[in-house]
Amino acid sequence: MELKDFGKKPIFMPDATRGAVRGLTTDQLKEIGVEAFVTNTLHLMMSPGEDIIAQNGGIKKLMDWDGIVLTDSGGFQVFSLIHTGKWKGKVTNNGAIFKAPTTGDIYELTPEKSIDVQMKIGSDILVTLDDCRDTDLTRKEAEESVHRTIEWAYRCRTHFDKEYGGTKETGKLLSCVVQGANYLDLREKCAKELANIGFDGYGFGGFVVDKENKLVVDEMETVANNTPDDKFKYAMGVGKPEDIIDAHKLGYNVFDTVLVTRNARHGSLYSKDVEGNVLHIKNSEYTTDEKPIDSHCDCYACKHFSRAYIHHLIKANEMTGMTLATIHNLRYYMMLMDNIAAN
Ligand SMILES: [Zn+2]
Repeated sequence: MELKDFGKKPIFMPDATRGAVRGLTTDQLKEIGVEAFVTNTLHLMMSPGEDIIAQNGGIKKLMDWDGIVLTDSGGFQVFSLIHTGKWKGKVTNNGAIFKAPTTGDIYELTPEKSIDVQMKIGSDILVTLDDCRDTDLTRKEAEESVHRTIEWAYRCRTHFDKEYGGTKETGKLLSCVVQGANYLDLREKCAKELANIGFDGYGFGGFVVDKENKLVVDEMETVANNTPDDKFKYAMGVGKPEDIIDAHKLGYNVFDTVLVTRNARHGSLYSKDVEGNVLHIKNSEYTTDEKPIDSHCDCYACKHFSRAYIHHLIKANEMTGMTLATIHNLRYYMMLMDNIAAN
């Protein structure tokens, strides 16, 4: 797929947090039909470091990947590491400072630094730094998050254009993230102001499900309705197959979630053959089951191996079992994208 066509049809991106989809080779990703993946700016900054990646020719050369790479900005880690208190650090109007608990090393992400790091990683689609927060924010906290998110997006846009010549010189896209928690007027304000600055794509940021694990449809609709329709709309972190279908109806075409690969490693496999479409391969009922994981699936695991074999491998913690399970779950999502596009 060419970059200019990104998001024109539904696309699911697996997470290659540290430069690999866990357990899979690049050839396996291609065979599954993966066209783009997400990699993590902060984690790659920590190891091996953006300068080392640049010296080695960038992440695409390292991975021998000719598809599309999207880097997140580190914005989600502002929430998941700093706001939750997991790591020491602080967020100011200028950016975020992280202190790694194991090494004590300090990492600073300003809007400009985030763009510089993403450029060094060699991403195709950059994301602006945002101030991501928890779901139940006070109005004041949500206003602060929106204000910073817009300010940082503007600084990223300016830096990308002035320092690198923007899309014209780099051939890369710059997308942004809409915040505002569950305040619909703040979501609208954030979306409109970001659209005024102008980006190639608009991500729905923050929490995509509420406390009952239901997709936040009203918030997502507000963001979709207030961002340009000729740019891609990215439902960040969505999600379960049924949530992807609902988000697509609202106008979103770009999806990612760690669940697909994480579930695979834990033995939760998608299968249209069972009720609820999730097959728990570790269950004893599969000990001698000769059927494939999913009789509708054309993946390598389903074409060659029985549930019994994968049951055994996953129970025995064999890496090959996790690889086969991951191949299957990702292929299931690729077929889901084709189905959504066809309907
Ligand atoms: Zn399969």
